[in-house]
Amino acid sequence: MKLLLVEDDLSDADFFAASLRRQRATDIDVSHAATMADAVTMLQADNFDIVLLDLHLPDATGLDCVDKIQTIAPNLPIVVLSGQDDEDFAVSILNKGAQDYLVKWEGRGRTIVRSIRYAIERKRSELRLNYLAQYDPLTAIPNRQYFHDQLERAAARARRDASRIALLFLDLDQFKVINDTLGHAAGDRLLTEMATRLNKAIRAGDVLARLGGDEFAVLLEGIGGARDAEAIARSILDIIARPFQIEARQIVVTTSIGITLYPNDNSDPTTLLKNADIAMYKAKETGRNNFKFFTESMHTDLIEYHQLEIDIKAALDNEAFRIVYQPKVNLESRQLQGIEALLRWTCAERGEISPEQFIPVAEESGHIIPLGYWTLQSVCRAIRDWHNSGLPIVPVSVNISPRQFQQADFPKRVGEILHRYGIDPGWIELELTEGLLMEDTDAARQCLHRLKNIGVRISIDDFGTGHSCLNYLRRFPIDVLKIDKSFVSDIGISEDSSIIIEAIISLARSLKIDTVAEGVETQQQLEFLIENGCPVAQGYLFGHPLPRDDMRPLLEELGDGSEDSVIQRILATAPAAGA
Ligand code: C2E
Ligand code: CA
Ligand code: CA
Repeated sequence: MKLLLVEDDLSDADFFAASLRRQRATDIDVSHAATMADAVTMLQADNFDIVLLDLHLPDATGLDCVDKIQTIAPNLPIVVLSGQDDEDFAVSILNKGAQDYLVKWEGRGRTIVRSIRYAIERKRSELRLNYLAQYDPLTAIPNRQYFHDQLERAAARARRDASRIALLFLDLDQFKVINDTLGHAAGDRLLTEMATRLNKAIRAGDVLARLGGDEFAVLLEGIGGARDAEAIARSILDIIARPFQIEARQIVVTTSIGITLYPNDNSDPTTLLKNADIAMYKAKETGRNNFKFFTESMHTDLIEYHQLEIDIKAALDNEAFRIVYQPKVNLESRQLQGIEALLRWTCAERGEISPEQFIPVAEESGHIIPLGYWTLQSVCRAIRDWHNSGLPIVPVSVNISPRQFQQADFPKRVGEILHRYGIDPGWIELELTEGLLMEDTDAARQCLHRLKNIGVRISIDDFGTGHSCLNYLRRFPIDVLKIDKSFVSDIGISEDSSIIIEAIISLARSLKIDTVAEGVETQQQLEFLIENGCPVAQGYLFGHPLPRDDMRPLLEELGDGSEDSVIQRILATAPAAGA
C-alpha cells in the first residue's frame, strides 16, 4: 500500500514513520511531501492508496488542503493530522471529504494503522454510494439525479458564455408490448443495448442518462442551434431503428424524441425536462419514430388533453356515451346488408365531441378498454331489442381499437358478452384497423383465430391507408375489407383512387373476401362502385348514423320484402349491379 504523508514539520513526520515501523506494517510504503506543491506533483506522478494530511502547510492551510488534494485525486482516502488544540476543526472536516483524523503525538502505531484501514474502507463505500446515487444500475449510465445536476450546471455555463444547450427526451415506442411479450429479461437487455448505441450517437462531452423505465435523456452543450439538435435527433432515430439482436430474436424498435433548447426555452432544469417530455408526447402523437421541438402552445394542448381525459372518465361513469347506427347496403340485392355502430358523446360542458377527437385520448389513457366493452354490450342490447320485437337481424359491426385487441382476454370477454345477451355470433362483426395485422405477431394471429372460433366476423377498416403489404390478407381469417372513404371521395377527381378501388375489389374477390365502400355520398360515386362490382356500400347517400330506434323501419322493410323501401328508392336511379 502506498501512503503519502504530507507534513512540513519533520519531527512530526518522523514520529509517524517510526510509529508505523514499530507496527511492522511492512506492506505500507511511506512517501513524504513537505509542501502542498510537492504533494500535488507526487499525486500527479504516482498512484497512492491513502494520504495523511497536515492542515498547516507553508502553502496551504485548513479546508483548503483537503480541497486541493480532492481536486487532484478525488478517489483518494484522506486522514487529516490535527494538533490537540484543533481537534474540533479536524472533526468538522470529516464532512468535507476527509475520511478520518489523527491527533498528532497521541496516536500509537496501532491506532494509526487502524485509522488508515478504516479511511480506505470508508472512502470505498462513499464512492460506491455516490455511484449508486448517480448511475443507473442496469445500464451503467447516469441516472435522473445526475442528469438534473449536470443540466443545472450546463444552464449556468450557457448563461455565463451566452451559449446554447439542447435537451433531448427519448421514449421507446411500445416498449411495454416488448416487455410483456418477450419478458423482462429481454426488456432489460434491450435497454442496455439502447444505452450502448445512444452513447455512440452522441459526442464526447454530451451527457446521456436513463431517467427511468424506457426513458432516456441527452444533454448537448455548446450547440449552434436547432439544426445541430435536429441532426443528433436524426442520427439517434437511425441508430435505434436498426434491428436489435436480443437472445435468438431480432427486434425492431423505434423511439420518439422531444427537444427543447435553452435559453429559447428559458426555464429551470425541472421545467426544461418537463417541456422536452411534452414535446416527446407530441412526437408520439404524430406517428412515433420522429422528433418534435417544444413550443409554448404544447402546454395548452396538454392541459386540454388532460381535461378531455378527465371528462371521458366522467362520461363513462355517467353513461353519457351513446351509439348511433349507419346502414350498409348490398348493391346487388338492393337490401340492407349490415349496420355499423358508431360512438357518440355529447359533453355537458362542451357539447358534441367527435370520436376522431376523443377516441385517440381514450386509447392513450386506457379508457378505451371499458368504453369498448360498454359499446359492445350496448350493441348487443340493441340487437336483443330488435330481435325480441320480431325484426330480422343483419350483422352489426363494432369498431375495435388496437388497445382492446391487444388485451390477452379480449376474445374470451367478447364470447362472454355475446353469451350473456344471447347474441348469435354471426350477428357481430368486428372492425379492426390495418396496422394491427401488419405487425403480424403470433399474438395477433392467435387472437383473430380465437375470435373466428367464437363465430364473429372480422372486417378490416380504412383499408388501403396503411402500407400496402397485403400478404397478411392471405394469412388471416378476414371476412370484409372496408375501402377507406378517402378513396371513395376521390372518385372522379383522382385517377389513382379509382385504380386503387378497382384493385382492392378484384383482390378481395379473388380471396373470397367481401368489400364495403364507405363514405359514399354521391350518385357518381355509387355508379362507379356498381360498375366495378363493389358488393356493398355505406355512406350519407343511404343514411346518416341514427339512434337505434330509427333503424327499426329499415329492418322491418327487410322483413316484409317491400319493393318500395328507402334504399330501393335511392338505388332506383343507379344502373343495376352487374349491368
Ligand atoms: P370509421 O370507423 O372509418 O367510421 C366511419 C366514419 O365516417 C364515421 O365517422 C361516420 O359517421 C363517417 N361517415 C359515414 N358516412 C359518411 C359519408 O358519406 N361521408 C363522410 N364524410 N363521412 C361518413 P365518426 O362516427 O365520426 O367516426 C370516426 C371514427 O371514430 C371512426 O371511423 C372510427 O375509427 C372511430 N370510432 C367511432 N366509433 C368508435 C367506437 O365505438 N370504437 C372505436 N374504437 N372507434 C370508433
Ligand atoms: Ca369503422
Ligand atoms: Ca373506416
